[in-house]
Amino acid sequence: MSDCIFCKIMAGEIPCKKVYEDEEFFAFHDINPIARVHFMIIPKRHVASLQECAAGEEGMLGRLLLLAAKLAKELGLSGFKTAINTGKEGGQVVFHLHVHVYGGGKLAHLE
Ligand code: 5GP
Ligand code: ZN
Repeated sequence: MSDCIFCKIMAGEIPCKKVYEDEEFFAFHDINPIARVHFMIIPKRHVASLQECAAGEEGMLGRLLLLAAKLAKELGLSGFKTAINTGKEGGQVVFHLHVHVYGGGKLAHLE
């Protein structure tokens, strides 16, 4: 997807603070964090949103959540919140599937 911001970040065309990378996933800090720690995990294969995930993506989605817990722990979070905004009405702005992981703060909206 040549016009996708997150694909450009993965390709190194837009700089980011990388958290993690393997064959399937890429994780990086949100440019506009809403908690002391706020990063996102994306699948390397461009999928626009959770609504575009088909049967057969169960494995990828399961590994995505397990990775969220693993990376949160590695970043020192004893607890964390996840969010997957889906579709315009769901508050999704970037149409490349991503899970937000945030924590480490006592921000009002995290309570
Ligand atoms: P959404 O509302 O689609 O779930 O969230 C998209 C997120 O991507 C927002 O939290 C926004 O701050 C983040 N974001 C947008 N553009 C960039 C960027 O160029 N770099 C990084 N690191 N994050 C971005
Ligand atoms: Zn993309």
